[in-house]
Amino acid sequence: MVPEKTPTEVIDADIVVVGAGLVGGLMSWDLSLKGLNVAMIDSGPLVDRAAAVRRFKKAPVKDNNAPYVTAPYAPSPGETDPWDYYVQKDHDSRDPLKQVGFTGLYVRNVGGTSWHFTGHAERMYPNDFREKSAYGRGEDWPISYDDLVPYYERVERAWGVAGDETCVAPEKHAYPLPVIPLTYLDEQVNRAAAALGDGVGPLPQCRNSVPYDFRPQCCGNASCVFICPIGAKYDGSVHVMKAETAGARLYHSHVVYKIEVGDDGKIKRLHYANYQDENNPVYGVAKARVYVIAAHGIETPRLLLLSKGEQAPNGVANSSDQVGRNLMSMGGVDSRAYVPEPVYPLRGPVNATAAFRGLRDGAFRRDFACIEAIIINGGFDETSAPITEAENAIKAGLLGKSLRDRVHNRTIRQVYIDNAVEMLPNPDNRINLAEERTKVMDLPRPKISFKFDEYTMEGIYQSWVRSLNVLMQMGGRILNKKGDWIDPPKPTREEFKRLVEGKLDPTYNDLAAGYALISGTCRMGDDAKTSVVDPWCRSHDHDNLFIVGTCNYVTSGVVSPSETAAALGLRAADHIAATFNLHGG
Ligand SMILES: Cc1cc2nc3c(=O)[nH]c(=O)nc-3n(C[C@H](O)[C@H](O)[C@H](O)COP(=O)(O)OP(=O)(O)OC[C@H]3O[C@@H](n4cnc5c(N)ncnc54)[C@H](O)[C@@H]3O)c2cc1C
Ligand code: SF4
Repeated sequence: MVPEKTPTEVIDADIVVVGAGLVGGLMSWDLSLKGLNVAMIDSGPLVDRAAAVRRFKKAPVKDNNAPYVTAPYAPSPGETDPWDYYVQKDHDSRDPLKQVGFTGLYVRNVGGTSWHFTGHAERMYPNDFREKSAYGRGEDWPISYDDLVPYYERVERAWGVAGDETCVAPEKHAYPLPVIPLTYLDEQVNRAAAALGDGVGPLPQCRNSVPYDFRPQCCGNASCVFICPIGAKYDGSVHVMKAETAGARLYHSHVVYKIEVGDDGKIKRLHYANYQDENNPVYGVAKARVYVIAAHGIETPRLLLLSKGEQAPNGVANSSDQVGRNLMSMGGVDSRAYVPEPVYPLRGPVNATAAFRGLRDGAFRRDFACIEAIIINGGFDETSAPITEAENAIKAGLLGKSLRDRVHNRTIRQVYIDNAVEMLPNPDNRINLAEERTKVMDLPRPKISFKFDEYTMEGIYQSWVRSLNVLMQMGGRILNKKGDWIDPPKPTREEFKRLVEGKLDPTYNDLAAGYALISGTCRMGDDAKTSVVDPWCRSHDHDNLFIVGTCNYVTSGVVSPSETAAALGLRAADHIAATFNLHGG
C-alpha cells in the first residue's frame, strides 16, 4: 500500500483524465467539445519541439528517446538499457520460450509516446477481433471490426491519415489525405517480392502528404520516429492543445500515484504529486464524477496495482486478477544485406513507407502467428547507417575520396527488412510490482515476466524465411568478420536455431521483442471474472472508472497498435457522455 501524503491542493472537474498522451488527449478534446469540464493530469513535462530537435541533433547516441527529457519523477525505460527501469529476471536469456528481454518503450511527457511513434496508422483486421472463431487461436473480443469502423473513420480524420486503395489495409476505404508514395527502395523490394509471389504496398500514415489541420506537409527531414521537426507527423500533443482550446485544463508534471476507492465502490479521488517545481513537490487530490486512466500499457496497470487499499485489496479494478496480465508485444527478426544495384535508402520518411502484403491474415494463422514486414527507409540503421560505414572504412585505413566512395557505395546498397510477429495473450506474461523502487517518490518499479510461445516462434521463423528469400532474390550479400563477401545464411531450421542462440552476426540477422506495442494488461471482456473492462472500456469493478489504451486489447494482431486504441477511446467518450448526466450536475 502506498502511503498518502497530506494534500494541500485540489483539482476539481466533471472528468479527470490521467495521461495527456495519444488516447487521453484525443478523448479530452472530444469530451470538451461535448461541453464537459475536463482536467488532464500528466506525469511528464511539456515538450518544446525546437528544444527537442536541438537535443536530438546534439545527442551522441540518436535513439528514440534522445530528443526527450526523462523527468526523474516520471521515469520510463531507456532504449539501450530498458532494465534500468524494468525489473526482469533472465532478460538476457537466449531461450525465448522461457524469457525474452521486454523492450517495450514509452515516454512520459505531455503528448505521450506518440512523440516518437512512427506514424503508421493502421486498422486491425476483422479477424483480429475473432481469432478464436476464425482460426482456433487466442480469444475473441466482445466487439467486432464493424463496431469500430465509424470510430476508425473519426480517428483518421482527426489525425489526418494519408492513404489510398493500394494501401496494405484490411479493406479499401477513403482516407482524408493522399497516399505517401513508395520510395525507390520500396519499389526495388517490391520487384523481388513480386517474383516470389508476394508484394509490397504503401502503409497508411498520420503524416501530412499535403498541408492539413494547420500542420505543414512532410518535407522529408527523415527523423520521424524520433521527432518530426515541423509537426508534419501527427502526435498526441496536437489534441492535447486542441483540448485546451476547447476548455480542458492541463496539469503537467503531476504524477498520479494512487487511486482511492470509496465505501460505495466508486472512485473517490486521485492522489498526485505536483513536480512543476522539481525540488519542492506539492501533494494534491483530484476529484471528479468520472475518471479515465490513459497512462499506457505499463503505467496504467502499475498505477492500478499501486492503488491497493481497503476497498481494493488486490489493486483497483482488479477483482479478476487480470490487471497486468496478458502483456503482449511483438516478436521480431531483422534481416539486412547489401544488394548489387543501388536502392538509395535514407530518402523519404523513416522508418518505413511500405509493408509486405502477404502473411497479414489468412488460414496460415491456424499454424503460425501473423506477420508485418516493413522495409526500413534508413539503411541498416535509421540514424547511423552512413556513420557506421565511415567508422568501418576509417578502421580499414581509408581516407579522402576512397573513404567517401566507400561510405556512399555501401550505404546506397543497404536493404533492411524488419519483421514484427504477433503474440497471443498469456496470463503469465505480465507486469507486476517489483521490490526495487524508484529513486524519486520511492515507488515500486515494474516487474516484468515475458516470453514467446511456439506459435509466435514459428511466425518469427516464417518471417525470417521470407525476408531472406527476398534479400537473396535481390542478390543480397553480407560481410563476414574478416571482411569477405559471403552469402546470407540459408533460411533453414538449423540456421534459425543458431540465430535464436545468438550465433549469427547480429549486424545482419537479429532476434528481438518489438518495442512499439505494449498491450493486453487491462483486457476487455464481457465477463467480470476474466477481464478488467467491459466493451465500453469501463471497469467492471468501479462504475465511474474508465481504463483506455492498448492495455484493453484481448489479442493484438500485428498492425501498428494505436489507431484501434484511439478508436476505442472515442467510443468510450461517447459512452461517457451518453451514460453520465454530467451536464445536469
Ligand atoms: C518507437 C516507437 C514507434 C511506434 N510507432 C507506432 C506507429 O507507427 N503506429 C502506432 O500505431 N503506434 C506506434 N507506437 C506505439 C504508440 O506510441 C503507442 O501505442 C501510443 O502512444 C499509446 O498511446 P497512449 O495514449 O496509451 O499512451 P501514451 O501516448 O504513452 O500516453 C500516456 C501518458 O500517460 C502519462 N502518464 C503515465 N503515467 C502517469 C501517471 N502516473 N500520472 C499521470 N500521467 C501519467 C504519460 O506521461 C503519457 O503522457 C510506437 C511506439 C514506439 C515506442
Ligand atoms: S520525413 Fe518525417 S520528420 Fe521529416 S517532415 Fe516528414 S514526417 Fe516530419
